[in-house]
Amino acid sequence: MKKYIWHVIILLVAAVFAVFASIDFLAMHHDEPIADNPNLTEIRWLSDYSEGLAGTDLDTPIYVFDSGVPGGTFLVLGGTHPNESAGPVAAIALIENIEVTEGRVMIIPWTNRSGFSHTSPLDGMQDFFSIELDDGSTRTFRVGNRLSNPVDQWPDRTYYEGSSGRKLVGTESAEIRNINRMYFGNEKGVLTERACYGIYNLIKTENVDITMDMHEGSPEFLYLDCTMVNKHSDNSLAMSIASYMCLSMEFDDLTMRAEYSGVNSYGLSHRSLGDNTESMMTLMETYNPSMGPLHGKMDDDLIINGNEPNYYQAHLDGYVYFDVPEDGYPLVNRVARHILTIAYLAEGFSEYVPERCISFDTNLGTYEDMVEMGLGGILKSIN
Ligand SMILES: [Zn+2]
Repeated sequence: MKKYIWHVIILLVAAVFAVFASIDFLAMHHDEPIADNPNLTEIRWLSDYSEGLAGTDLDTPIYVFDSGVPGGTFLVLGGTHPNESAGPVAAIALIENIEVTEGRVMIIPWTNRSGFSHTSPLDGMQDFFSIELDDGSTRTFRVGNRLSNPVDQWPDRTYYEGSSGRKLVGTESAEIRNINRMYFGNEKGVLTERACYGIYNLIKTENVDITMDMHEGSPEFLYLDCTMVNKHSDNSLAMSIASYMCLSMEFDDLTMRAEYSGVNSYGLSHRSLGDNTESMMTLMETYNPSMGPLHGKMDDDLIINGNEPNYYQAHLDGYVYFDVPEDGYPLVNRVARHILTIAYLAEGFSEYVPERCISFDTNLGTYEDMVEMGLGGILKSIN
């Protein structure tokens, strides 16, 4: 017996670590609470549009705001990549404040809900960040990972061809868990692909007119403050609407450009949903220094205040094209930019396609108003 005593001790010590680790891991499976908005019409689930998602971590709620007045439908996707925090936070801010007066707005805050339940291993990521509200209460958000949790979909295959024709091989194998590589989706495919099919089928079933997929990119990325645009049946109309948005942003002193969806961007929302549905597809990226390899210590300050001196220096030295602000690019500015882009796209769309008018008030005012309020004023307290 004596010779096994060390084995028993080691097992007990391992069990103690396992208990604390599992508490930590399981906490990431709880969705952030969202404050009530009296203008909310109903909550649907993505499994209503893709049966195979029911009961899985990839099923996700769809917040529907129906004005009751005939018009078009705007679909907003947040959290396609959970670690791009401005996307899900902007979606939640809209859900808590929006008031739709013509047509419908549908908002998905956690498009890859499985991705919110884990972080990127060995990247020094943290799992949560917290924002103090004006009333003194605190809202906590998950950081998450750009891919579905391997607990939900495993193993990654060495070769996979998605419905778009994109072939996932070699270093791209893990992208089989990336919602934004697997469009337009497959009802019977791997779980991530079934979620893509849910979005595709939602767009078709609900006659969605225009979709925004909200993203952030690392400072090295060349498409920051840029909106990708695609509409298979009428590209020039889509670009006119996007240009209306860009011009409106520029009048607010906010840099924005629009580009046509890359011809080979197969599997990405703007390319493959634009090619296979009637919805005008848009995807916008904001600057997020916590995503790039040059970032220093990962903490709430980096995520919320977006200040990374390494990137400012890299920009000064000519290695980073993006005009990195000296004092950082806070999350609230990035959230405001997403919300404003959506508002101007709806305005532009309604201007060009008045018979499918989509009209709403974010109740958040201008860009300056949102920045002044801060996330502590934009987000509501949870009662
Ligand atoms: Zn992204």
